Amino acid sequence: MNYKIRTWPDKILKQKMKEVDFFDERLKEYIDVMFEKMYELEGIGLAANQIGIPYQIIVIDTNTKKYEEQGEEGVKLVLINPKIVEKEGEVESTEGCLSFPGINITIPRAKRVKVIAKNEKGEDIEIDTDDFLAIVLQHEIDHINGIPFINHLSPVKRRLVLEKYMKQKKQLAKA
Ligand SMILES: [Zn+2]
Repeated sequence: MNYKIRTWPDKILKQKMKEVDFFDERLKEYIDVMFEKMYELEGIGLAANQIGIPYQIIVIDTNTKKYEEQGEEGVKLVLINPKIVEKEGEVESTEGCLSFPGINITIPRAKRVKVIAKNEKGEDIEIDTDDFLAIVLQHEIDHINGIPFINHLSPVKRRLVLEKYMKQKKQLAKA
């Protein structure tokens, strides 16, 4: 299987991913390849559909340069079938996305989230945070629900950002 990074407008980025009901070697392989790809691309988080795996899996490792700038201690996480069950407050968040190379946008996010999920062994986990991690969780959980970060922009801004993005993409393809 080819685990190449999927970039917009790849249709897998617009689809809700399937729930994982197998906590076995296959899942472990998916998780390993996701971390590998995320580190290779210097991301802080990756959702399974971003490399063509059609399941609700996200990996996060905020022990990176980008995260150090936030002045908080990083964490490494695997979340299977994650759901946001509580949201509170609002913050402006400036984000990039491995599936939209070259694009940074500022969008509203909840300040605090509570997330329930399973770990790779199938055990229940719960995360309640108002750190920078809360933003990463919202971005990645959106991905597995088929919601790209540009969906949080107003329609006018979204059109402008997408025009810029498609133009850059064409130029890259030519280069
Ligand atoms: Zn993303």
